[in-house]
Amino acid sequence: MGTLTGKKALVTGASRGIGRSIAERLARDGALVAVHYGRNAAAAQEVVAAIRADGGAAFTVHAELGVPGDVPTLWEGYDREVLRHSDSPGLDILVNNAGITPRGEIEQTTPEAFDEAVAVNMRAPFFLTQQAVKRLHDGGRIINISSGATRIALTDIIAYAMTKGAVDAFTLTLAKALGGRGITVNAVAPGIIDTDMNASWLRGNEAAETSAAQLSALGRIGRAEDVAAVVAFLASDDGRWVTGQVIDATGGSQL
Ligand code: NDP
Repeated sequence: MGTLTGKKALVTGASRGIGRSIAERLARDGALVAVHYGRNAAAAQEVVAAIRADGGAAFTVHAELGVPGDVPTLWEGYDREVLRHSDSPGLDILVNNAGITPRGEIEQTTPEAFDEAVAVNMRAPFFLTQQAVKRLHDGGRIINISSGATRIALTDIIAYAMTKGAVDAFTLTLAKALGGRGITVNAVAPGIIDTDMNASWLRGNEAAETSAAQLSALGRIGRAEDVAAVVAFLASDDGRWVTGQVIDATGGSQL
């Protein structure tokens, strides 16, 4: 029996990158996992297939976030599919992971890019969580994926950093609001992780890879599984006494 046997989890943005690793890890720990995706249906189905091949249980849920109707679409899909894959409704673990990183210094950031980052990284998790709260069982977990960019000033992702700062404030305040139900709310703040998000400037660029690795006290670039391990702890019963926190998972970047 896994530590999450009998639990139901929803991971947004689980078709790729960090979300995929989180989905696979929570499934390995025994949870039934809803693998949410935006545009990559085939990738999400591949994640579900990998989880099932590993002996776990999962299904896909589609919703493009940051557009009108996003939250109802997601929950309609979740509510329908969870009853097809288990004998009861509800949710135990919500991981707000889906996000985008518009790149640009303050001078280059357009209102359109700014608004999109706010819509996907800030607005969508807020209203998605508003509906999740009705479905979450007492003792449940909410885990928001933030960023080390709220602690380390990275001028070329200034708008992104702002949205993640809002996620941290949301985490703190929501933890207080839901504590009476035994629901913990935490954020995990990764550093540079080797995912598609960083592919354009990192992958295959030896100089960038070396300097990214040197940012971490541990001397390497982070892997999606490194973040998933922290999420798995917070999701487990062992994480029950941690709430309202932003857990740095940057491998000790710029200590
Ligand atoms: P990726 O770009 O690799 O994957 C993003 C995931 O989010 C995909 O599954 C994608 O789904 C989904 N997604 C993105 N936009 C939308 C949207 N509008 N609607 C629905 N789904 C969407 O990102 P990472 O795995 O690197 O990042 C995951 C999280 O971790 C993000 O919140 C990010 O800010 C954070 N983070 C990442 C770091 C890094 O270095 N990689 C560092 C710090 C934080 P699909 O492909 O199906 O559209």
